[in-house]
Amino acid sequence: MNEEEPIVDEEVVAEERPPYVTVQDAERGPLLSMPSQPCGFPLTDADRDCMDLLAERMEEDGDTALGIAAVQVGYPKQIFVMRDADGSNLFCINPQIVSRSRETTKRGEGCLSIPGFGAHPIRPKSVTLSFMTPEGIVEKRVFTGMPSRVVCHEMDHLNGVLLLNHMETQMEKKAKGVAEQQQAKVNRFAKRRAAEKRKRKARKKQRR
Ligand SMILES: [Zn+2]
Repeated sequence: MNEEEPIVDEEVVAEERPPYVTVQDAERGPLLSMPSQPCGFPLTDADRDCMDLLAERMEEDGDTALGIAAVQVGYPKQIFVMRDADGSNLFCINPQIVSRSRETTKRGEGCLSIPGFGAHPIRPKSVTLSFMTPEGIVEKRVFTGMPSRVVCHEMDHLNGVLLLNHMETQMEKKAKGVAEQQQAKVNRFAKRRAAEKRKRKARKKQRR
């Protein structure tokens, strides 16, 4: 995940951006919609190579990259890296969110796999993540604020969920809300009409 970015000229993005798998990538793009596979321990050479690549990307992207999932470099296994509080890389392997706060936040997010797109998904304010370190040690940590958002974003990647899907869900909810409001209006109108009709009928009866 990166900070929500301003829309810039696409060509410039293509030239400057390191080779992440993007949704526009006809060959590897579909990987982004598939759940990643868990890693076995000890990690394989391929797992380690992927971690080296992720570390390289974090270094290259400086402060703009807050986290990257393995699938974003074309390796669909349950690994992601994020910037830890001290600036070092925190690798989370086979991670699982074990609890999330009821309190939520809404904030701008960008995704290295969807260049030029920004969205404001609703995320829990804090999450507890259980994961394995590259050495195979199980850890459990609580992330709050922006780090919680990064964890949720990268977990989404491991589950084949993209920012775009969040927008669809939010828009569907909104559309459903609007449709329900309109239906309620129609119902109220019909009820009023029926009541008026009954009154008219009653008045007619009285006159007779
Ligand atoms: Zn992303």
